[in-house]
Amino acid sequence: MRSGCSRSVENYEKMEQIGEGTYGQVFMARSNTTGEIVALKKVRMDNEKEGFPITAIREIKILKSLDHKNVIKLKEIVTSKAHALNQNKGSIYMVFEYMDHDLTGLADRPGMKFSEPQIKCYMKQLLTGLYYCHRNNILHRDIKGSNLLIDNNGILKLADFGLARSCASESSKTLTNRVITLWYRPPELLLGTQFYGPAVDMWSAGCIFAELLLGKPILPGKNELEQLDLMFKLCGSPVPVDWPEVELLPWASSFVGKKRFPRRVQDVFRRFSRSARSLVESFLTLNPTHRISARDALDSDYFWEEPIPCSPQDLPKYEPSHEFQTRKRRQVWLC
Ligand code: ADP
Ligand code: MG
Repeated sequence: MRSGCSRSVENYEKMEQIGEGTYGQVFMARSNTTGEIVALKKVRMDNEKEGFPITAIREIKILKSLDHKNVIKLKEIVTSKAHALNQNKGSIYMVFEYMDHDLTGLADRPGMKFSEPQIKCYMKQLLTGLYYCHRNNILHRDIKGSNLLIDNNGILKLADFGLARSCASESSKTLTNRVITLWYRPPELLLGTQFYGPAVDMWSAGCIFAELLLGKPILPGKNELEQLDLMFKLCGSPVPVDWPEVELLPWASSFVGKKRFPRRVQDVFRRFSRSARSLVESFLTLNPTHRISARDALDSDYFWEEPIPCSPQDLPKYEPSHEFQTRKRRQVWLC
């Protein structure tokens, strides 16, 4: 990546919009010089009174420090000039390699059903990317289908490091618990902890795994309270023998009800192999210190017994699919 002065966005020809999230729009674009197809993510500057948003600085800094085949590659930063006449402040874009799909868009295709070797292949790549981030003391903090990008060679990459942060130097500092999209948020964050580590991403990875197996999101809560309720009905209520620290968490007394639910994971996943069930169990462990790490998950029987994971290049090729477009298409059908 070039450093110093950044190039102009005019080096790229914008094609269609492929994403719209919390922090900005994403476009497909073509390089005027090389013809290469890229993704341009606009840095949202709306509420910035004082220059460049700190969240974008953090995202860029982290992306620049990472280099792995299962992590999205930031190619460069480009800018558009400010126009004094129409009060346009000028924009900043991150330029990424273009990826044909995100996992949510792919899974939502009509009639889509992933085979077991295919699920193993995606999960193995997700865990390899997470292992790399965690080894480098980066917490992603927003693992979910629309942030997992897949190209037409079947390579899966972690993307959207907008909420990510380094956890090494800050180990004694408190961290915010208002991260991770609700359905993928682990119990310790919902119960208000401000001290946490890589295990938060492992819970989200477990939710993705369970979703790939069952073909639908496993814990679709509408609010924090319902999220915990659904979670305890599936994973059982937290008990001090398994998770002694739970009682010390800020919101435990308000949110952990008197009614005790039994754990139902074995039952819900009974039609899957023993090794698949055992891995779901290890991801969806309420106590974060007992939850499986990315490294141990990669070593689990699930990935080493028949049917073994297929290779990325053997995966079927699909027409491009992004969550933004499937959502838009659905809105048109509903009209
Ligand atoms: P946000 O913070 O807005 O969620 P993301 O980085 O997740 O930002 O981008 C939003 C969406 O745009 C993604 O879910 C994905 O569908 C699409 N997208 C992002 N980066 C790329 C890329 N490099 N290639 C193709 N599509 C992308
Ligand atoms: Mg996103």
